[in-house]
Amino acid sequence: MSAPGERAAAPDAAPWRASVLTLYPEMFPGPLGLSLSGEALARGAWTLEARNIRDFGRGRHRSVDDTPAGGGPGMVIRADVLAEALDAAAPPDDPRPRLLMSPRGRPLRQDFVRELVAGPGALIVCGRFEGVDERVIEGRGLIEVSIGDYVLSGGEIAAMVLLDAVVRLLPGVMGAHASGEEESFEGGLLEYPHYTRPRDWEGRTIPDVLLSGNHAAIARWRRERARALTRARRPDLLPDDDASR
Ligand code: SAH
Repeated sequence: MSAPGERAAAPDAAPWRASVLTLYPEMFPGPLGLSLSGEALARGAWTLEARNIRDFGRGRHRSVDDTPAGGGPGMVIRADVLAEALDAAAPPDDPRPRLLMSPRGRPLRQDFVRELVAGPGALIVCGRFEGVDERVIEGRGLIEVSIGDYVLSGGEIAAMVLLDAVVRLLPGVMGAHASGEEESFEGGLLEYPHYTRPRDWEGRTIPDVLLSGNHAAIARWRRERARALTRARRPDLLPDDDASR
């Protein structure tokens, strides 16, 4: 059964397709193989293939990287190697966006997640070392995506974060819980606080209004709490006229 506002899961709908290019394919599905995302994967709501960039490496050691032109520390993933891996993963007319996980990228936010969910899937490149040769980013039209202002050692966990955010929004994945509609960021606000039994815990009680059965009052209280939390913690999310109040 679907909750109001939720798209019914069409059993014959084409699955959302993820192809991940990585030097560590054995990291996948990892946590994505459990819980909601794992059940959705088993059910065929989405597909995941992890491809090893090293299959296209050079020489006896299948080398994928080299020293940075101009000097400096670390190693850089070669443009020719990564391009071959990309071309083998998807023909040029594959409609899926080609993403590169990167701290320099477009910040991953819920609106971008929604855009991805509406499409056919994604090709996701996971960087390692210092990153990838700039020319393959340009030459293959890679869209750089960042999961936050910090530096990870590789793109795999970042790719999992992106995929987790996408998959839970696929039709039917959250089941009868239309929770996707009310959550943090969906209305441009952080979510209101939640409570459950027991009613009294260590002297802290559930706010009376939530037990009143008055749905209009509950909705009003939740809206107010959401606004107050957002104003206190993330005023940058509020429209300008709201942030000052
Ligand atoms: N030298 C790079 C960082 C390389 S970190 C720089 O300063 O920009 C190695 C790889 O980890 C990156 O290629 C990228 O794929 C991944 N990565 C690191 N931090 C990330 C972040 N915040 N978001 C997404 N991917 C990230």
